[in-house]
Amino acid sequence: MLIALLPGDGIGPEVIAEARRVLDALAIPGLTFEEAPVGGAAYKASGHPLPQATLDLAKRADAILFGAVGDPDCDSLERHLRPEQAILGLRKELSLFANLRPATLFKELADASALRPEVATQIDMVIVRELNGDVYFGEKGMRTTKDGKREGYDVMSYNEDEVRRIARVGFETARARRGKLCSVDKANVLETSQLWRDVVIETHAEYPDVELSHMYVDNAAMQLVRNPGQFDVIVTGNLFGDILSDQASMCAGSIGMLPSASLDANQKGLYEPIHGSAPDIAGQGKANPLATILSAAMMLRYSLGQAEIADKIDAAVATALANGARSADLGGTMTTTQMGDAVLAAL
Ligand code: NAD
Repeated sequence: MLIALLPGDGIGPEVIAEARRVLDALAIPGLTFEEAPVGGAAYKASGHPLPQATLDLAKRADAILFGAVGDPDCDSLERHLRPEQAILGLRKELSLFANLRPATLFKELADASALRPEVATQIDMVIVRELNGDVYFGEKGMRTTKDGKREGYDVMSYNEDEVRRIARVGFETARARRGKLCSVDKANVLETSQLWRDVVIETHAEYPDVELSHMYVDNAAMQLVRNPGQFDVIVTGNLFGDILSDQASMCAGSIGMLPSASLDANQKGLYEPIHGSAPDIAGQGKANPLATILSAAMMLRYSLGQAEIADKIDAAVATALANGARSADLGGTMTTTQMGDAVLAAL
């Protein structure tokens, strides 16, 4: 089993190094690693944020563990050369259409949530977001109206196959958890959402054991802070998922705690912390590596069929937190390496 390690920019290499130490300590038979540059680091080395050799490695590998991309030095580059294009390119080239973001609050961190502790501790959900369609990929442009005003437009669309495949990921994810799926749309005003809802209902016939509900996105935004404990799995489109998953992550505490997976139709995936390259703290040993360590656990669970080892990592992170491991974002003073040490000690 080949893992492509793509550390990227800023704190990416620092947090990937800690995840690698954890994976090495587990000595999983047959696991091998190859590393390649991506993002600003790749642009500086070879003139492109996603060099062909990096893409080839990602395609060859069984799974990809990704740090973060983004480098202020590259802010003035043309859009297609910016570091962030690397992640969009990987999603497209590898057909990674399903983004899974668990939002769970470790009870030791209840005070770090933006919500009251008694509400925050109920959070235990996965948001399944479609990644390859919706308004981000529709026809878009700038034009001038008849009366000479500038007008921007972005067309929102989904076809039924795109909805069906992400709905299935939602149902499968719910089936493996508490068996409740909430589909979020805006079917009261959008045709795209009406089709979404119709196809989700049709797909439900394949999963009679899963309880399905529907919610308008505005209500979902409210319910996420009012009563987040009601959600098990949420499935939604690209735009609504982009916003709701960030909202859920802040309810669940620090950005440094949250992993994610982006999967193709065969469960091959790219695993990454939800945070970016954090240039403000890069190179200072302040980054919290737990989101990346938890991403490695997701990789073992979803792409490598090693759920038991994934459980061990999750438990070691919980133990490290219970033992008082806190980086600066969690109100402590521990360095990135010390946080990694705490997880290793718990393992
Ligand atoms: P960010 O997530 O990098 O940082 C936001 C804030 O959270 C910063 O104050 C940062 O110090 C803090 N933070 C982030 N991760 C942390 C960690 N592990 N431990 C402790 N603190 C942490 O978001 P940003 O500042 O908006 O973006 C910085 C760069 O990252 C930009 O170039 C952006 O485009 C890029 N970005 C990349 C990805 C990705 O690679 N998938 C995702 C988001 C942003």
